[in-house]
Amino acid sequence: MTAIRTAGRTTARTATWTNWAGDRTSHPTSVVRPRDEEEVVRAVRTATERGLTVRAVGSGHSFSDLVCTDGVMIDLSHMNRVLSVDEHHVTLQAGITLRELGPRNAEYGLSLENQGDIDAQTMAGALATATHGTGRAFGNLSSRVVGMRLVTADGTVRQLDRTTTPELLRAARVSLGALGIVTEVTVACVPAFALRRVDRPRPLDDVLAELDQLVDTHDHFEFFIWPYTRTAMTRTSTRTDDTPSPTPLWKRRLREEFTENTVLGALCRVGRRFPSLVPTVNATVARSMSESRVEDVAHRVYATTRKVKFTESEYAIPRRHCAEALTACLDLVERRHLAILFPFEVRFTASDDAYLSTAEGRETCYIAAHQYQGMDADPFFRAFEDVMATYGGRPHWGKRHTRTASDLRPLYPHWDDFAERRTELDPTGTFGNAHTRRVLGTHDEVVTR
Ligand SMILES: Cc1cc2nc3c(=O)[nH]c(=O)nc-3n(C[C@H](O)[C@H](O)[C@H](O)COP(=O)(O)OP(=O)(O)OC[C@H]3O[C@@H](n4cnc5c(N)ncnc54)[C@H](O)[C@@H]3O)c2cc1C
Repeated sequence: MTAIRTAGRTTARTATWTNWAGDRTSHPTSVVRPRDEEEVVRAVRTATERGLTVRAVGSGHSFSDLVCTDGVMIDLSHMNRVLSVDEHHVTLQAGITLRELGPRNAEYGLSLENQGDIDAQTMAGALATATHGTGRAFGNLSSRVVGMRLVTADGTVRQLDRTTTPELLRAARVSLGALGIVTEVTVACVPAFALRRVDRPRPLDDVLAELDQLVDTHDHFEFFIWPYTRTAMTRTSTRTDDTPSPTPLWKRRLREEFTENTVLGALCRVGRRFPSLVPTVNATVARSMSESRVEDVAHRVYATTRKVKFTESEYAIPRRHCAEALTACLDLVERRHLAILFPFEVRFTASDDAYLSTAEGRETCYIAAHQYQGMDADPFFRAFEDVMATYGGRPHWGKRHTRTASDLRPLYPHWDDFAERRTELDPTGTFGNAHTRRVLGTHDEVVTR
């Protein structure tokens, strides 16, 4: 869905790049699509010699200006192979998408430990922003990385692993693309398993009253709540080693394609045209929710279809604040009569230790706010951010936020450790752009801090 229009792999003609949501555009000097690590090295060296900056792009599923550049854009979509499997450690080229990886892993009887709710992202792209799923016992995707290969600004290839370069790896696991180009990743996978997912509407008050129990007693628990309603759609997934009895495809299609995309899309268009009807539209959505079940191998259950376009902001807060923070979010929409047609999504993960992981050092609750495409998101997202800030919220690196390095530094105990590794690996800011300078600081600030 991401459009990259360019005349060829090494063209110097201006290309236009647009993200999935269609609201972020960039005009890189050139787009390079290497086929192997050597070509990545050559592209980075050439850019450095010409004094150009470099940004890697994955599947373009970030909602922010993270990949935008007027320098060289490196697209690793041709580097999408599984390279080796050693017991449960899988080494892959960084441009593989999670969708491509699922069936490849299954051939070896393996699975990713956990996933988010789509699988269009590339491995490197998902890691760079600390992409996560839900499940109290599971960290985000980057927590499973045990090794990486990284091309740095002078074209040197660094092999990072947990034994010989533990600190560099802690920095590179969640890097915002600011340390270099990741060419290979080794991920600790788990034996393949199946998931039984149950979606069930429940009164929000009941969900909040039983929240700890729901999160603690299920492998994966999350819920969605539409503003102006009090019915949450809960989603509970249970892991099993039994052979799954896959839900018929037509049944999933009917629900996901028709109800969750076609019908939702039509209702959203009505709400966008007549904003005063938004509470009625949301109430209609809440009333139409019903229980459903899906069972299949894990990678086919985690991934859902998202055809209705939206933009998103998401914050990670300490888990204990979940109920209070969510209540404040619903209040702010309803008090200000904001026209918000999409639900808040609430998920949970274990803490982990990548320097810039949004779950670093704390059990985390993620609250995501969405706005339908073509509707003004800024006032809502700004108010949402203010609420999240009161709970020590850390913004998702791939989603919309207005925070700067000075706001973020106090929220990350290892901020300066990351900054030092950034200076070491990218001393001249080759892998920066305006967005990374805002959220991570400029290179001068990093060096002199
Ligand atoms: C519909 C939808 C659903 C989503 N669901 C979830 C979800 O469930 N959970 C969640 O946490 N997030 C979710 N996201 C956000 C998404 O997972 C992140 O934004 C992710 O980073 C996108 O991956 P990508 O491959 O598209 O990377 P891009 O958006 O293209 O790039 C992201 C970052 O990765 C860097 N990068 C890419 N490749 C490399 C490389 N080879 N070397 C170094 N840096 C690299 C880029 O420079 C950039 O900084 C969702 C987004 C959408 C649009």
